[in-house]
Amino acid sequence: MKKIVTSLFASVALCAALPLQAHAELDVVKLKATIQTSVEIDYPKLDALYKDIHAHPEIAFQEVKTAAKLAAEMRALGFEVTEGVGKTGVVAIYRNGDGPTIMVRTELDALPMEEKTGLPYASHDKTTWNGRETFVAHSCGHDIHMASWVGTAKTLVGLKDQWQGTLMFIAQPAEEEVAGARAMIADGLFTRFPKPDAGFALHDGNGAYGYVSYRVGVGSSNVDGLFIRFHGRGGHGAIPQVTIDPVMMAARFVVDVQSVISREKDPTEFGLVTIGAIHAGTAGNIIPDEAIVVGTIRSFKPQVRAKMLAGIERTAKAVAAMADAPAPDIRLDEGTKAVVNDAAVVGTAEKVLKAAFGDKFNVAPANTTSEDYSEFVNAGVPSMFFNIGVYDPERVDTARKTGTPLPGNHSPLFAPVPKPTIETGVTAMTLAVLSAFDQRAGH
Ligand SMILES: [Zn+2]
Ligand SMILES: [Zn+2]
Repeated sequence: MKKIVTSLFASVALCAALPLQAHAELDVVKLKATIQTSVEIDYPKLDALYKDIHAHPEIAFQEVKTAAKLAAEMRALGFEVTEGVGKTGVVAIYRNGDGPTIMVRTELDALPMEEKTGLPYASHDKTTWNGRETFVAHSCGHDIHMASWVGTAKTLVGLKDQWQGTLMFIAQPAEEEVAGARAMIADGLFTRFPKPDAGFALHDGNGAYGYVSYRVGVGSSNVDGLFIRFHGRGGHGAIPQVTIDPVMMAARFVVDVQSVISREKDPTEFGLVTIGAIHAGTAGNIIPDEAIVVGTIRSFKPQVRAKMLAGIERTAKAVAAMADAPAPDIRLDEGTKAVVNDAAVVGTAEKVLKAAFGDKFNVAPANTTSEDYSEFVNAGVPSMFFNIGVYDPERVDTARKTGTPLPGNHSPLFAPVPKPTIETGVTAMTLAVLSAFDQRAGH
């Protein structure tokens, strides 16, 4: 039965040279229909899993129950499952003869925020995080990824006479803290288990369901954390001449640092710095001793990143020097790197996905957000990271026309429509994995 996939690729390859478009599309459409029938049959179980995970989210590195649910699903499908990889991560292996190892990754974690969707399966759960109580919600849609991950595993096992090799399904903790991928790798992900020949991951967003988008090359941003403590000399608010005012330094820094972006960075290159928190002082008539600013720095290219980091550090030192203050404490913490999609993996998958999804499969601009899937890519797994939409296409259309975007990731109102979203996730991921098996099998 591997013939179906092989003939599919042969036809796609042929169609580049000959006008056999209709024949090529027919094969993909057939395979897509087979997958969709399988998903349709499985859907009630996937729906129950999705709503259970959605209602009971767990935060970074606390995903114990979520991991156990996924582990049980994968064991039931015949995968060999290892839990506790990188604290709460799961690795599920399915061997199906000689051939390449293909990795599919989902995240496990939710966010420390309150869900306000009002959905019947909305989360009301709370947890303790960084020493304080917080609501927890799957407002980044990682629950959609988990349901799609299980659905893809089920579908690929059902189609096992059409591919040969090893499936390596991994469920990663703490993506939101960009720490989980690194934790799994440090815990032997690629030494205790096979090193994948190719890898895939997907992320949902506030576009229309049924649509799949992808990028060639850079797909997300580098992220670095910014923490600066300005040291002043505290005193009376009405006797400023004997003080060194750290609030003034913080304020000046917040404004001046944007000139690194607008004047030093090449305007045609992406880069940004956002100061998300300022901590200083207690009362209006007291000049405090110190002021702390906390921010995030994003970029696509290493050379742009280096230039920004140097400019930010220089600006902080200059602001302190202007006030005749001691040098500030500057911490620019390296987060994670941009996800760079592999040209060969994308090249193979895009032919099949284009034939399957037609004009609902599109190239999109890179995300300015970050994603620690890059750790797997940088550990040597050539990959494709792609995106799927979650809302009714008509709603998305209306939102575009009126200029009021629908709630996106990290919004308390983010509310994917489960069935068409998960079905698209499973269909696209299954086709992508089959394309990789076929491509690698021939080498
Ligand atoms: Zn997120
Ligand atoms: Zn996310």
